[in-house]
Order: sequence, then structure tokens, then C-alpha cells
Amino acid sequence: MVAYEKTICPYCSCGCGIYLVIEDGKIIGQEPQNNHPVNEGGNCPKGRNAYQFLYAEDRLKTPMIRKDGRLVACSWDEALDLIAEKLKKAEPDEFGMLASGKNTNEDAYVIQKFTRLVMGTNNVEYCGRLCHSSTAAGLGPTVGSGVMPISQLDLENVDCLFLVGINLKETFPLMYKRALRAKKRGAKVIVIDPRKSATARELSDVHLQVNCGTDVAAINAMMKIILEEGLENKEFIETRTSGIDALREHLAAMDLKELVKICGVPLNTLKKAAKIFANAKNGSVLYNQGLNQHITGADGVKALATLALICGHYGRPGTGLSPTRGQINGEGTGDMGCLNVFYPGFQKVGTPAEPHKKFAEYWGVENLPDKPGLPYTKMIQQTKYMWIIGTNPMVAAPDTTNVKKDLQSKELLIVQDIFPTETAELADVVLPVSTWVEREGIHAYVDRRVQKINKLIDAPGDVKNDWWIITQVAERMGFKDKFDFSSSREIFEEIRRVVPPYKGITYERLEETLGGIQWPCPNEDHPGTHTFFTEKFNTPDGLGHLQVVNFIPPSEVPDKDYPYILTTGRTIFHYHTGTMSRRTPKLDAEVSGAYVQVNPKDASLQDIQNGSMVTLSTRRGSVQAKARVTADVPEGLVFLPFHFSEASANKITNPVLDPACGMPEYKVCAVKMEVSK
Ligand code: SF4
Repeated sequence: MVAYEKTICPYCSCGCGIYLVIEDGKIIGQEPQNNHPVNEGGNCPKGRNAYQFLYAEDRLKTPMIRKDGRLVACSWDEALDLIAEKLKKAEPDEFGMLASGKNTNEDAYVIQKFTRLVMGTNNVEYCGRLCHSSTAAGLGPTVGSGVMPISQLDLENVDCLFLVGINLKETFPLMYKRALRAKKRGAKVIVIDPRKSATARELSDVHLQVNCGTDVAAINAMMKIILEEGLENKEFIETRTSGIDALREHLAAMDLKELVKICGVPLNTLKKAAKIFANAKNGSVLYNQGLNQHITGADGVKALATLALICGHYGRPGTGLSPTRGQINGEGTGDMGCLNVFYPGFQKVGTPAEPHKKFAEYWGVENLPDKPGLPYTKMIQQTKYMWIIGTNPMVAAPDTTNVKKDLQSKELLIVQDIFPTETAELADVVLPVSTWVEREGIHAYVDRRVQKINKLIDAPGDVKNDWWIITQVAERMGFKDKFDFSSSREIFEEIRRVVPPYKGITYERLEETLGGIQWPCPNEDHPGTHTFFTEKFNTPDGLGHLQVVNFIPPSEVPDKDYPYILTTGRTIFHYHTGTMSRRTPKLDAEVSGAYVQVNPKDASLQDIQNGSMVTLSTRRGSVQAKARVTADVPEGLVFLPFHFSEASANKITNPVLDPACGMPEYKVCAVKMEVSK
């Protein structure tokens, strides 16, 4: 029997609706969903091939324990008993847990609850640390909230789109479609990107092709032009912000010529961009890793939010500064508190709100940890016991050579995943889990859009749900009464009780509401919230706090030994560390291995032909990739996608961290290149 079942695409956080065609319990095809408000019948290549990875031959199907150096199959009881016995020996600070933006909210909630309640530590993080920690550090002091303040559906009605460090076409293809519609309706598009990305080439009216790592200089230049030419929104500044005098003074002391020299964008181009943005009625800013992944990522976010504030682009549909979390539940895993400084609902450790006391009361325990846990990279370096769920630091974390050494030295490394990832290969215990349409749960997509995934097929072999595994270990460690969940619905009901923005969202409402509900949703009659900051910001005084920020150069700049700059990014055909997309035959057929973009002049200097194997070397190591000679990268810059473990970009990127938020400087380091011998 053949059935068409509705679900949501498992790849990016746009959250497009699709139908799966299921015959006798097996998915045999799929179609985009025409009436889903996010995609309206469209899907990108990943979405059109969403289910194939489920049937890859190397899917994990049984638990495994390392014996005599080899991972061998075992029973669930054996694996769970071993984990519980070993974790009983761990001191709180010795343990760390990494979750994923692919976990459901229910999984993420149980993960952080286990870490805090059973293990007694805030050492819980997820991959959001590596892509949007600068958002929290930058937007917290500026507007008081680090989430997308709008509905992605409203983007098509703005009259200026400013895209900073985001290759929208290849990263969020259906949001790109909406941006195209806005452009057709007359919106102007400004792009900041050191490359002529597909987005810069095809969508921009003004492309600020900055030198890599100089966004802050370009944004400061735009603000200086706007204030000196009187283009700012004076009423908005007066009524909705604080700090304009300090900002004016700060920018007045800057030399525009010097800023132009640093960022490498001609003054006329900067002026054109500044005027378009300042004169727009409703301007919208989207940004992503290109802005974030620098030692000054948090500064970049602060500067960009300040630019939006002085132009009054906040508080109306489609306006404001929007971080774009990439994974299907990149938002929700953070909402649920898989962050070392936030309990669920972004209740910050160490603030007067004292979330550790509130949650101790909710959960019926005496004490919970009240000091910040370790951030992602430090957790890998400093803990003795690690539990890694659905994320692959052996490809995703910076400086993977040292990550490998750190992970190999653990007393206990547990990896819970769907495939034998590069990280799972190092584990002492590997636990196979269900994914996507093999289980039920909710995700919060890029614009806080909460949608529900239903179980449509059975998982293969002896595979279990993430939350079930954790509750079983908790029970073995003496906490059965605190983790006595028998369904994801029961977990969600606890979430609704303790995370106020989710209070009005129910499984029943999600079943009935096509396109989901945007949190905050304070009660069951509330329609959800499309637009934030309509009257005030989330800061203590309700004002937007204008920030003053200075340009700081990247940690590594080219020199005679490493004369080029390396930057990294994505292709539309693959997704993050490639665990799913590289097991999808149709996507793999489009791009089957690593490549590096090289400018024609640099290629000629180094005797590199299109298709040559090139060795890229930094102070951390070397990788090889096939050259694509293209003027899409300027002279002096090379671009390496980060999806390919055989040429792992993060073996060679710079692990130095932004001191404000622990974000690694993935986007710029010094490199040399030569034809591989
Ligand atoms: S845009 Fe994102 S959610 Fe939509 S089909 Fe593509 S990958 Fe899936």
C-alpha cells in the first residue's frame, strides 16, 4: 500500500514542507508540499533528495563497545550498564555532553537535564557554539535577544535586504527564493562577502567585496557616512535607543580613508550601500558565519545591530537583524538549554533570575550547578568523560588533529549517532539512534517556527530514540523518578511547564497549524509571535543600546611563509560535515569530493590548472583538494568548502577563539598552496 505523508525537510532551518511516498513501510519517493507557507511547492536539491541517506548501508543498527581496541556489537543492557558504572565515577567538572542542532527539542531538553541534574555540571553545549555564539554575545547587550526577530515570510515585503557573511542561495535556498521575490518587487540588495558568491553575483545591487575579516571596518565606515550625511533615523534613535553621543564621538574620530584601506571597498561603493540602507523604509539584515566566525565575531554582530538601530530598521515585519541558525533545530536545541551558560528558555546562569534555583524546584532536587560550564572546544580539551550526540567534532571542531588526540585520551567517550562518523570511530561506546521520520518530536526552525515531526517509518535494527537512551542511563544512576518519561509527548508537556515561550504550543495545535507556530506563545489561544521589538527591546530599560566597536585584524595575516588567506564555506549540494548528504547518491553525484577555489592570477603564479590537486598548508597541517580556478575569489584568497572529511577544512583552520564568546576563527587564516606532488 502506498501512502503520502507530510513532514518537514531534514536539512536546513528554513523548515520546508514535503510529502514522503511510503510503500509497505519504506520511503520510495518524495514531493514538495504545495500548501506549506515556507516553500509553497518549492524544494532545493537537498530537500528533493531528503530521505535517501536513511537507507545507506553503513547505518548504525546495534550498540557497540570497544573491546581489545575494536568496536564490537553488544546488547543495550551491556552498553547502558557500562556507561552508568563509569559515569558514577566522574566528578561534575570531568564530564561534558555535546548535543546537536538535529536533536528534537525533547531530546535536547533531556540531554541538558541529565547533564545538570545527574552529573551536576553546566558542561553541556551543542554545535550552535561554533556558528552563533557571537550572536548571543553581540545581540544580548544590544537588543537583549539573540534570535531571529521576524518571520522569514515577511522578508519578501521589505525594500532593502542587507546580507552579511551569508551565501543565502547555497545555505538557505528557500529564503533566497523569497529574497528574489523581494527584489522583483523593487527591493535593493546589499551583500558583504569577500567572494563573488552565487548570492553576491546573482542577487546584489551593491556588493561590498571586503578583505576577509574586515566586516567591522566596512560597517563602521557605513555608520560614519550615515551619521555625517544626516541619513540616520533621528526619531527612532531618540525614542528607542541609547548611546548615540558616544557612537557619534567614536565614529567622528575614525578616518574614513583608513577604513576604506582596511576593508578594501571603494568609498563610492560604501556610500552607495550606506544610502540605500539608510533611506530604505523597511530594511532587513540577515547574517551568518561569514560575520560570526572570527575572533571579532561578537563585535561584528554588535556593529551590525547598531547600524540597523541608527537607521530605525527594527520592530516592523521583516525588519531587524536576523541571525540565521543553520540546522533544523539549531534554534530549538539552544532554546532547551544545551548551552553552558543558559538553562532552558535562555535563563542565564549567574544572573539575579537564579535559574538554577528555579529548575531545582521544578525538578524536585536540592541543588543544581550555578557556575558556567565549559564551552564546546574547552570541553573537548578538559573533560575526562564525554557523551557526544549527533554531532561530529572530528570534522566540525577547529584544529581536528588535536581534537583527535583529546578525544582518544578520554576515560570514556560515548558517541550516539546514525552513522559511524569520524568521531564515532574513536568512541568507547557507540549507540545507534533513530532520526527524523523514525521518531516524533518538535523542532524550532530559523525564525522560531515550531513544527512537529511524526514517526512515519520504523527505525532499522536495534535503534533507539536519543531521549530513551538517556533516561535509561539516568535510571541506572538512581534518577528514575526524575526521568520517568515514556513518550516524547510527556517530555514536551514538562517543557511547556518550565519554558514560558513554549507554554501555549501543544502537539495538537502543531498538528493543525500548517507552517507551525512562532514562539513566544504564552497561552493556547495565542497565535504565536511574528515580529519582536515592536514597542521595546528585551534589554532591562527596553532601549536598543548602540555599541562602539573598533576594527581588530584577524589573528593570522599572510606572510612570506603562508602568503594566501584561506576562508571556508558551503555548497548547496552538501550539508555540514556531510554525514547525511554524502550518503545521498544524487547529491554526491553533483559534488563528490573536496575542491578549492583559486583566483586565475594566483593559479598562474603557482602553476595550478583547473582540476590540479592542490596541497593547502597552514601552521596546523595540510589537506589536498582539487583546484577550481575562478574569478569568484579575489587574488590572495582561497576558498575551501568544509563538508569533506578527506580534506577537512578544520584540520587547517585557526582554532583561536573570540574572547567574548569562544567562537573559533574559522573564516580566516594564513595558508600556502602548491600543486600536490
Ligand atoms: S531550503 Fe532547506 S528546508 Fe527547504 S528544501 Fe532546501 S534544505 Fe530543505
